[in-house]
Amino acid sequence: MIEVKNIHKNFGSLEVLKGVSCYIAPREVVCVIGPSGSGKSTLLRCVNQLEKVNSGQILIDGEDVTQSRVNIDRIREQVGMVFQHFNLFPHKTTLDNVTLAPIKIKGIPKEEAQENARNLLRKVGLLDKANVYPNQLSGGQKQRVAIARALAMQPKVMLFDEPTSALDPEMVGEVLEVMKDLAREGMTMMVVTHEMGFAREVGHRVLFMDEGKIMEEGSPEQIFDNPRNERTQSFLSKVL
Ligand code: ADP
Ligand code: MG
Repeated sequence: MIEVKNIHKNFGSLEVLKGVSCYIAPREVVCVIGPSGSGKSTLLRCVNQLEKVNSGQILIDGEDVTQSRVNIDRIREQVGMVFQHFNLFPHKTTLDNVTLAPIKIKGIPKEEAQENARNLLRKVGLLDKANVYPNQLSGGQKQRVAIARALAMQPKVMLFDEPTSALDPEMVGEVLEVMKDLAREGMTMMVVTHEMGFAREVGHRVLFMDEGKIMEEGSPEQIFDNPRNERTQSFLSKVL
């Protein structure tokens, strides 16, 4: 579903991605772990074209999205993204947050978009919050709305960038549960996370990044129980 081929990304003279290659198969859940500043967010942002790569290719369902003639809106339809800080529209209700893009970008009729949105809000357990504004929601609820909003575009892939890192501890579980449900339904997912329990339980594969490279990849069992790379060992000894 996603194929990243030897991408390089610089910010000025700082080389942040130094030749990253990876793939995500359909229905696969790939978790990306690694220290702060290793390039995890930049990798996700390159995949959905929030950042342009300096070289290399990214294929999404066979289409090379690094080509300048590719329509950005079309990519964003196919790749849903959930951020650490929710990024909900503060002046729109929960329902309007979820229906906005399907109506504006996909041209779906309002009634239909609202019905889809209600189904998604039911799925994330927030149907009763359809008509409230983001400032009336807890952090965990906001993040569940953000997930529903991304799903409303019916993406082929969902990218998550530390979706629980900004949450109070008691709200982490409710967001992870929604993500587990998605994984069970067969959504293709790339998840940057510090939740090692989630990566072990839900991830099919784990990528360890450090200093702009994927240093090691393997099954959760292999990475967590038997890491081969010295950097992986050192990182895990700090976080586990
Ligand atoms: P991670 O998500 O693993 O913590 P990031 O991808 O956010 O890492 O950042 C990797 C490196 O790139 C860091 O050194 C960060 O300061 C730098 N960086 C990220 N975004 C930008 C940007 N827009 N401009 C300049 N430097 C950036
Ligand atoms: Mg990050």
